[in-house]
Amino acid sequence: MTRRKQIYEGKAKVMFEGPEPGTLVQYFKDDATAFNAQKRGTITGKGVLNNRISEYLMLKLADIGIPTHFIRRLNMREQLVKKVEILPIEVVIRNVVAGSLATRFGMEEGTPLPRSIVEYYYKSDKLQDPMISEEHITCFGWATTQDLDDIMQMSLRINDFLQGLFLGIGIKLVDFKLEFGRVFNENDEMRLVLADEISPDNCRLWDSKTNEKMDKDRFRRDLGKVEEAYQEVARRLGILPEGAPGDIKGPQTVQ
Ligand code: ADP
Ligand code: UDP
Repeated sequence: MTRRKQIYEGKAKVMFEGPEPGTLVQYFKDDATAFNAQKRGTITGKGVLNNRISEYLMLKLADIGIPTHFIRRLNMREQLVKKVEILPIEVVIRNVVAGSLATRFGMEEGTPLPRSIVEYYYKSDKLQDPMISEEHITCFGWATTQDLDDIMQMSLRINDFLQGLFLGIGIKLVDFKLEFGRVFNENDEMRLVLADEISPDNCRLWDSKTNEKMDKDRFRRDLGKVEEAYQEVARRLGILPEGAPGDIKGPQTVQ
């Protein structure tokens, strides 16, 4: 890790002060947590892969006009991003029943949804990210109705695009979580941008043919071959890092 001022250490990443004002360096760790950090572990090479996967997806989304915090990748584990005011909201988009949706409604995992569902959760480890509605968000001043319209529009567009992108490499995008933040320009005008990361840590990705899980559920549910699953996602995206450091094993699962 470089000698920079640390702003924040989270469960999966460390944020450092960036080289220019208004920037941050996002360092991707191999640490993995689940069930509100009650389960902890390490996924060897995850940080390197998520740095690369998130860069790739954020750049693709920028290409279709989604504003993102991503500026450029700095090295194997770090990327330069715009510093934003993160909204305390986790936006979850679902295409197929899985995880907490399956539990909450007693539905079978894997059931396709007739249309995509967008849900909001309050970002609070202490309160275990409770589910919230637009009413809570606007009443508590976390975002305005206009912000929510923008977030909903961007989220659905991101979902459409990513579903297609993953389908093209034999992967079903079951669900995923997004975070948005506010940035201000020199005239103090506010814009919402996509922030944080998009990676197998916060997406459910299933092989289209076999429904094999290729995401953090392998860690959460002790399914084994966790590292291999992250590598396989990167491999199919065509971005498996070349000459990765010793902590990265070569591709193992080739179909
Ligand atoms: P957590 O905080 O849930 O443990 P991470 O380990 O991923 O999660 O930490 C990264 C933190 O940085 C998150 O809280 C996320 O909201 C925040 N973050 C992500 N992108 C930005 C950004 N561009 N500017 C400021 N904060 C950010
Ligand atoms: N998710 C996330 N961070 C969270 C909660 C959920 O990235 O704090 C992602 C998770 O990886 C999945 C989607 O959001 O892709 C939906 O998660 P769910 O509500 O089913 O929660 P889970 O039971 O997985 O915690």
